[in-house]
Amino acid sequence: MIGTAAHEKRVQLEPDPSPNPLADLDALMGVTHGPVPGIAGSDQAATTRTLMIDAVRQDGRFIGGAAPYGYRLVHDRQHHNPGKAIRGQRRAHLEPDRDQAPILQEIFHRILAGDGHTTLINHLTQRAAPPPIRRGSAGWTVKAISAILDNPRCTGYEFWHPYSARRHPCLPPEAYQILVRSDRPAHPALVAIQDFLTVATMRDHPVRPRPSRTSLAEPILLHRISCAICGRTMSVSSKDGRVRYRCRATPGDPAAGHRSSVYVAESRVLAATAPWLRQQSETCPSWAEDRLALHAMIDAVNLRITYDHGTDSIHATTGIGRQMAFRLTRD
Ligand SMILES: [Zn+2]
Repeated sequence: MIGTAAHEKRVQLEPDPSPNPLADLDALMGVTHGPVPGIAGSDQAATTRTLMIDAVRQDGRFIGGAAPYGYRLVHDRQHHNPGKAIRGQRRAHLEPDRDQAPILQEIFHRILAGDGHTTLINHLTQRAAPPPIRRGSAGWTVKAISAILDNPRCTGYEFWHPYSARRHPCLPPEAYQILVRSDRPAHPALVAIQDFLTVATMRDHPVRPRPSRTSLAEPILLHRISCAICGRTMSVSSKDGRVRYRCRATPGDPAAGHRSSVYVAESRVLAATAPWLRQQSETCPSWAEDRLALHAMIDAVNLRITYDHGTDSIHATTGIGRQMAFRLTRD
């Protein structure tokens, strides 16, 4: 059942189909066709990654992870690794899931027909359509619908972020946006590319390359900073978008040695320690200004911080025992 207004909306937005929808899809998603920059100083990893990128592009190989909504993993292809093939291991590929595929197609059809997210969510919930199962899954939500509409793999092509799996201190932030695509369809398409593009243009928040999980302003000293006065691990207590850490004394405990709550802004700790951290990790100085790289570097050197509220100073220690004291400056 399609409303007249929705029809008009679609007609207006879609005056004539693109002559090259695949090129438009690449532009929308930011697909990289040329060489993918490697990471200096990790030859083995770089070689492996190049092989994997070629495998995705040339063979549409499924690299790993969970099947996207609408599909299931089927392990019935001959394994590309001869050793594993001999041991009977099979390679996985995506096949439409009997229950989820029709729902994914219906979601695209309804959005194309002008349904809003709320209408769609109510409809799917009432029908008890199986929602995407993810960690912390809460049934059909705007986020769940968006994740489905954002995922170009339903067009039958395989897409892969070569650098999304883990952080690396030498990696420029742009690397996490790199996306490669299979040259040919790798699994059955559930949605026509043109429909995927039309839905993207219709949405308030059109598809963008997925932001890296690590680029969000998450506290990067969590579990790494403790109170020098009472020894407690400080907890995150962010305010106005600024990450802060707090040590809260037990009420009425005179042994705490400081007032009920003391705070330190993460930016002040990072400003003091970043130049020193850069010296500890000489492999990638150029990216050290970036929060993401800093986070990775802190993990790599296993940084521990104690904060002394009395002197407003910190003491930093690395996993291999390097240490340094810093007086914090106002910011
Ligand atoms: Zn304390």
